Amino acid sequence: MTLPAVTFGSATDVGCVRDHNEDALLAQAGVFIVADGMGGHAAGEVAAAIAVSVFARLAGRAEVQPDELLDCVADANAEVLRVSDEQPETAGMGTTVSGVVLTLIDGAPQWIVVNVGDSRTYLRTAEGLSRRTIDHSEVEELVLAGYLTPAEARVHPRRNVVTRSIGSDPAPLPDVWVLPASAGDQLLVCSDGLTNELDDGTIDQLLGSGGTPQEVAAVLVERARLAGGHDNITVIVVQL
Ligand code: MN
Repeated sequence: MTLPAVTFGSATDVGCVRDHNEDALLAQAGVFIVADGMGGHAAGEVAAAIAVSVFARLAGRAEVQPDELLDCVADANAEVLRVSDEQPETAGMGTTVSGVVLTLIDGAPQWIVVNVGDSRTYLRTAEGLSRRTIDHSEVEELVLAGYLTPAEARVHPRRNVVTRSIGSDPAPLPDVWVLPASAGDQLLVCSDGLTNELDDGTIDQLLGSGGTPQEVAAVLVERARLAGGHDNITVIVVQL
């Protein structure tokens, strides 16, 4: 069995409030990763760029194993810490990572999903849109424990506090899942600048609008800007 044909598009935007874009993305030969950098004085950009550059080593590979994504997170974490040590102006920088690698495992096409932090990966099939990552954030933990509803979490003052990030000592524990990949699957990888502005119903509707992945990516970013654009906005749309 060979990998099904894939098309993809991406867009990233500083938004309407921030003065620079600390998000980074990689969309290349089966590897689709978004990183949302954190840290003052442009350091977040450095951390996000390091993270996507480490994942780039998986691009174009015929077969990738889930453990290799764990290795990428560990290596990105070590590199962010090393650069923070060497360049004091970047001390304390960090980044999220979320996304997928499309690969063959035992001859069958699979999505390997990886996540650290509060960027997100969604899968849209004939059954609808489903989020495939769990935010590593204070509010998500409160939702999972039953103390907040998802609607309350969306407006909570501490909704931006992440509980795991790349650039931490000890290193963060990433989530990795393997999902079967089928013709017709749509994947969305995005930073919280999208999901803080648009609810899942709106995202589902825009993904289903019938545009090319590049058109849909551009529309998602534009709609997040129209909704306020309070943060950097980054999206990758993949169509199998
Ligand atoms: Mn963000």
